[in-house]
Amino acid sequence: MGDTPGAAGTAVVVEDDEHIAELVELYLRREGFRVLRAADGERGLELVRREGPRVVVVDVGLPGRRDGFELCREIRSASDVPVLFLTARDDEVDRVLGLELGADDYLTKPFSPRELVARVRAVLRRTDAPRAPARLVVGEVEIDPGRHEVRRGGQPVELTAREYDLLEYLARNAGLVLTRQQLLDGAWGRDWYGDPRTVDVHVAQLRRKLGRALPLSTVRGVGYRMA
Ligand code: CA
Repeated sequence: MGDTPGAAGTAVVVEDDEHIAELVELYLRREGFRVLRAADGERGLELVRREGPRVVVVDVGLPGRRDGFELCREIRSASDVPVLFLTARDDEVDRVLGLELGADDYLTKPFSPRELVARVRAVLRRTDAPRAPARLVVGEVEIDPGRHEVRRGGQPVELTAREYDLLEYLARNAGLVLTRQQLLDGAWGRDWYGDPRTVDVHVAQLRRKLGRALPLSTVRGVGYRMA
């Protein structure tokens, strides 16, 4: 998070205690957030809907028709934005934990600004982390579907896009005997028109590049199987 105001995105703070709201705003600003404040749930919901913030800090005990719980429920019905609760009492903490409102974390008052900043960072780390697809491992070959990278014994191997798609499809269906037609359809899509023998050409390339690290066998008269 940088020095430019707003570089970290927008944070909405819904808190009726002005001193606390000011403190939260001050520290989130230092973290690079553009901070918008609301003193009740109605206005808070309006800000969240209008601004699409990156994080929302919500006091549980809010005046008016919407308390923090109700606000969180309404936010959650339309958005996955991280919500951090501020709670004043133990029974509020119990409710935060018990209601499964979809809050991402909570802080109990009084809290230190440093704690607030740490929680906000942690919540954002969790929710911003790219949901990386799991790595696939066949033999000594490692496939990273998130990056389209392939390693053999830890060393990167350059594959063409078609070779990569074929390898990933074979790895995802390890243990199954796949016909050339299945591989054509599965790896490159049904709308891709090609001779089933094209598969053999790409398999030969994969074997050339990956060698014994690749546990792929030819099933005569049928197709291929990845171990
Ligand atoms: Ca309050």
